[in-house]
Amino acid sequence: MESQKIQNNNQDLKLQNENLQNEIISFLKSRGFVYPSSEIYGGLSGVYDYGHYGYLLIKNIKDAWMKSMIQERDDVYALDSAIFMHKNTWIASGHVAGFNDPQIDCKKCKFRMRADHTLEDFGISADKQSIEWINAELDKLRVDKKLICEKCGSSDLTEAKVFSLMVKSNLGSPTDSLSEENVMYLRPETCGGIYLEYKNTIDSLHPKLPFGIAQIGKAFRNEITAKQFVFRTREFEQMEMQYFFNPYLENGNVKETYFKNWQDYRWNFYLNYGIDQNRLKWYKHEKLAHYASDAYDIEYKYKMLGDSFKELEGIHQRGDWDLSQHSKFSGVDLSYFDEESKQRFLPYIMETSVGVARMMLAFIDNAYKVEDLSKEVINENGEKVIKQDSRIVMKLDKRLSPIKVAVLPLSKKENLQNKAREIYKELSKVYMCEYDESGSIGKRYRRQDEIGTPYIITIDFDTMDETNINFETVTIRDRDSMSQERIDIKSIKSYIRSKFD
Ligand code: ATP
Repeated sequence: MESQKIQNNNQDLKLQNENLQNEIISFLKSRGFVYPSSEIYGGLSGVYDYGHYGYLLIKNIKDAWMKSMIQERDDVYALDSAIFMHKNTWIASGHVAGFNDPQIDCKKCKFRMRADHTLEDFGISADKQSIEWINAELDKLRVDKKLICEKCGSSDLTEAKVFSLMVKSNLGSPTDSLSEENVMYLRPETCGGIYLEYKNTIDSLHPKLPFGIAQIGKAFRNEITAKQFVFRTREFEQMEMQYFFNPYLENGNVKETYFKNWQDYRWNFYLNYGIDQNRLKWYKHEKLAHYASDAYDIEYKYKMLGDSFKELEGIHQRGDWDLSQHSKFSGVDLSYFDEESKQRFLPYIMETSVGVARMMLAFIDNAYKVEDLSKEVINENGEKVIKQDSRIVMKLDKRLSPIKVAVLPLSKKENLQNKAREIYKELSKVYMCEYDESGSIGKRYRRQDEIGTPYIITIDFDTMDETNINFETVTIRDRDSMSQERIDIKSIKSYIRSKFD
């Protein structure tokens, strides 16, 4: 009886989470944030396009990252390296031989699952485990009749086998097939470009250790399953920073100190942009990648992905693995000569790495609220009744909001519209603004709440009425409190500036 109740509760919760996920996905599509790619041809799984507001939100997120990683630091340099790189890059890094995920197929409905994720659903951590180990664990579940297809429930599943995540192209050999000797890979992570430009950065900018190189760019992975909306896609953008340092310094435990400093720095970035601290946690990798000596992830508890903690950003110690591999495969000496200590060595590297869309999804997940605005009113019979009302509001940090200010004429009267357009034109020289005259004022407020616009300026009849005390003033509405202030048209610019300083 009790176990039936728990099962029912779990099912209710699963349904609620799925509903929330579907609700937010369709909301983001209908409001012009995220569209499924190639929809008119039936879609392309694991690939998404970003509409007007999605593009603007992402741009603001990338700007915030760049500001924090480059503008506000004097030890990190920018880079924009190409997606295509010499194919030896990926042989040296171990990706060609070993960038795999374990896959199981349902023989009945052909549904494909990631074996490590299936094990995780049973509380078994399969991170970086061998395929033999994974199959042994899956066999135990099979014996207990617990291993079934997520989609159709069949127990007729294949063994787990490894599946390369590398995406191939025929760049440079257009008429040849994608045989191994002709293949050119699309980069599976952006940091490859950083290692290859480490030498040029040193030779051109002469930085002293420790220093970092940061870049934002596209990466491609043939993900086995891409079913968590933009959380896991086959084409995505990463924001990565590699920090090069001398691990042989004698003043203290430099490796740990740099690591701790970067952990704090990245954690605080999320708090600074309004992520609820209770939805963040650290995950320490027990089983490390061959090159790593310490690895932590910042996890975010995505309400829309089952209200569970999932990797948002990785912060890893990579030692001298990357530079030594690229030195070995290219034959170029990538060592660094430290003038002060007169030492020559390969710097150690630690990295911070985060997907743009995962970060965007965390910000949306954190900001998306459905607020109950129902209130008591007196009806025509003089009785107290509850007037039902609610609003969807995206309480994004205003620096991230796609639109900073919306300018609305209260009515379709021409003089109100002209004045509103005038104000919009001036403000849009500095801020991403929107002018909107369509529909009732209430609907227009709600529309701006939904896309996260922090300020709405309304031009009303008083604004235009010379005899009114409020002549030449406008109202400014605050998204979160919904309160309105009246200010002089002349002071709009300084008012808005003060809000963004
Ligand atoms: P996962 O375990 O979720 O597959 P990973 O450990 O393979 O991720 P990394 O190789 O460490 O991820 O990549 C660094 C960051 O890039 C991740 O923390 C994530 O934010 C982002 N990322 C990785 N793969 C994808 C993807 N397929 N889609 C979107 N973002 C991704």
